[in-house]
Amino acid sequence: MKEIIFATNNQHKLEEITTITKDKIKLLSLKEIGFYEDITETSATIEGNAIQKATYIFDRFAKECFADDTGLEVEALDGAPGVWSARYAGENATYQENVIKLLDALKGTTNRKARFKTVIALKTNEETTTFEGIINGQIIETARGNSGFGYDPVFVPEGYEQTFAEMSSEQKNKISHRALATIKLTNYLLNNLR
Ligand code: IMP
Repeated sequence: MKEIIFATNNQHKLEEITTITKDKIKLLSLKEIGFYEDITETSATIEGNAIQKATYIFDRFAKECFADDTGLEVEALDGAPGVWSARYAGENATYQENVIKLLDALKGTTNRKARFKTVIALKTNEETTTFEGIINGQIIETARGNSGFGYDPVFVPEGYEQTFAEMSSEQKNKISHRALATIKLTNYLLNNLR
């Protein structure tokens, strides 16, 4: 089986992506390769951060590697929190603090349109390739559900009634931004890399 590093420390992401790649590609987490630091994200774009993380690990370990970066883009907030999604309510903000800040920012706003965007950057010897996954939806007014992470309790994907946090992980994994980008990555790896 192909082996590749997934440059993340986020257990939720690791589990989500492993459910898609499991029989096809063996993922090595940062923990498994003995890397415990946080990789800095200094880019002004989601794509830039994904490339930055993948490049950092590739340069250090000289092994094929991919990294993802995700942002929630809210139309009425001109695309915020976007690349700042993890740090929306402050540098070490919790998921809950970020959600509270978002709901406050949207108080009284009728346009609740939002989308999650994931970019996965793959670094191989030859090149850097990126894969994008987007899901459109709405931000509701009160958080609902206990599954998932981040902004899941306030995001209802288009065509559904439940928030991501009310869905089973199997359901979220079929339709999510990260799933869409991961399916593209997996197909690419299976077709292009030895
Ligand atoms: P990251 O930089 O890719 O880790 O993502 C930035 C932030 O976006 C995270 O801290 C979460 O708050 C949020 N986020 C990323 N993916 C998801 C998701 O699948 N659901 C809800 N929130 C997410």
